[in-house]
Amino acid sequence: MSTRLTFLILSGPTKEYIDPVRYISNESSGKMGKALAEAVLEKDHKVIFVSGHVNVLPKNVKLIKVISALEMLEAVKANLKKSDVIISAAAVADYRPAKICKHKIKKSYSTSYETIELRRNPDIVKYCADHKTNQVVVGFALETCDILKNAKLKLKKKNLDLIIANGKESFGSDSATVHVISADGILKMKNKNKKIIARRIINETIRIFQNIKVDKKIS
Ligand code: C5P
Repeated sequence: MSTRLTFLILSGPTKEYIDPVRYISNESSGKMGKALAEAVLEKDHKVIFVSGHVNVLPKNVKLIKVISALEMLEAVKANLKKSDVIISAAAVADYRPAKICKHKIKKSYSTSYETIELRRNPDIVKYCADHKTNQVVVGFALETCDILKNAKLKLKKKNLDLIIANGKESFGSDSATVHVISADGILKMKNKNKKIIARRIINETIRIFQNIKVDKKIS
């Protein structure tokens, strides 16, 4: 077999705590991330799996559990250099509360608690793309309108090698309809099991990785 590659896969939602018992999050199930990890393992490559809180996790990976976006970024920074392919299927919260209250916020507190001040979270997949050497960086785009247009914009803006566009109906489901978009074109996969989608994505990332290597040798 050729060289074993290391895939850094980000999966699941982040939780951004407001107080010890309340948080901002979303319904990401982590199923796509798990399917991706399993597709990598089928090809005998290695997986570092950074996951927010989910009920489904892959086996035989280096697992790093995180809660918030800032924790996810730290885990990514610690593992970026040793990774050949980075795939962010995580549903990272774009914002976090500016401060986390030490105690549970009570209704009797002052009206200042009626507004939550937010701070922008770092864009983790963009961080990876901005720091990539000869690595492949892949993102997902969950869109509720203008799916293709918005995903293509994100591919460019985040400097990604591949982006997978999907609708919100894929949240928590075993199947999805996706568009796999790269500089080479768009592949539509309609209502396919996430395992089949994952295998296709992994094959595509390996193809791009090998092309980067060839391009480097030629130039
Ligand atoms: O901009 P948007 O959130 O739609 O982009 C989706 C892609 O960016 C996904 O791959 C997601 O994992 C990643 N992302 C990220 N950090 C954020 C927000 C999104 O890595 N703060």
